[in-house]
Amino acid sequence: MEVHSTKAMAARAVDLCVALLHEPPSAESVSRVLRDHGETGDLDLGEADVTAMRAAAARLREVLGAATVGEAADLLNRMLAGSARAPRLTSHGGTTSWHVHVDSGDDVPWAEWFLASSAMALAVLLADHQRVPGGLCAARGCGRPYLDLGGGSPRRYCSTRCATRERVAAHRTRTSPPTPG
Ligand SMILES: [Zn+2]
Repeated sequence: MEVHSTKAMAARAVDLCVALLHEPPSAESVSRVLRDHGETGDLDLGEADVTAMRAAAARLREVLGAATVGEAADLLNRMLAGSARAPRLTSHGGTTSWHVHVDSGDDVPWAEWFLASSAMALAVLLADHQRVPGGLCAARGCGRPYLDLGGGSPRRYCSTRCATRERVAAHRTRTSPPTPG
């Protein structure tokens, strides 16, 4: 997948939300996710960036947890109004493929870049698919966000691991004798 495709940017947003909200977040773990998604060079990401990115992640996660497409659109509009600027094309001085940025400059803080670029990617996917572009895992104790762009029945779990765990738990509930009391 082209690293700057809308879907790749949305996948990066979801992975960052998981690293920031569902795992003990650190500058190292967040940098690792960024590198996995094609960021190169010295990322210069500090603990203050992680704290600010966590606030952005919570808002992005809320979009994927929206009950209706209209609710998701409202949330995204609020984020875009607050953080996005006029779209501009950049190749970062010829070091990357051309892609669109909606933040205010190439040197903005990580959290501003994260919120603006992720909100933009989710907005485009919402418009493309006319649905909330993902969800929150229904497995007990999980709640991780995931992307869901398929045309079929909506996904409910973040991973096959969570789906299997829930299926096993449901099976056990059905086959075990009623507990006394
Ligand atoms: Zn899960």
